Amino acid sequence: MRKELDTKLCTEFPELYANLRYKEFECDDGWYDIIYRLSVSLASIVSNHDDMQPEVYTAVQVKEKFGALVVYMDRYSDEIDEAIDKAREESLRTCETCGAEGKLLKDSCLWRTTCDGCEVEREEQWLRFEAGDFGAVPPVGDMN
Ligand SMILES: [Zn+2]
Repeated sequence: MRKELDTKLCTEFPELYANLRYKEFECDDGWYDIIYRLSVSLASIVSNHDDMQPEVYTAVQVKEKFGALVVYMDRYSDEIDEAIDKAREESLRTCETCGAEGKLLKDSCLWRTTCDGCEVEREEQWLRFEAGDFGAVPPVGDMN
């Protein structure tokens, strides 16, 4: 995600992202709105429960995995699980690149949630890359 969007989320939700790895959201900009709404939900869940300490319920990693948004917390509750599941389902219908309506595509090397336009662009980038234009490296998903 663009650095300014990383910074915006970390600044608006300082407690939630106090322990975020590298202070980075490891996905593309198209999911920013989903992550923003999830952040609002998580912050309000924690602040609505006196027994949930904000320094314990922090997000340690936010990333794309197999085409879906994945959020790892230091600690979970049922409500937190529900909020993360909802954001994950939303990410599977939202292009990770541009935020338009998208769908999950799978091939041997890459699972991605994308819209038709971004998929065409990705294929064109591949062709340019294969033709020797190494400046046109296509985005590669995280298979871990
Ligand atoms: Zn797109």
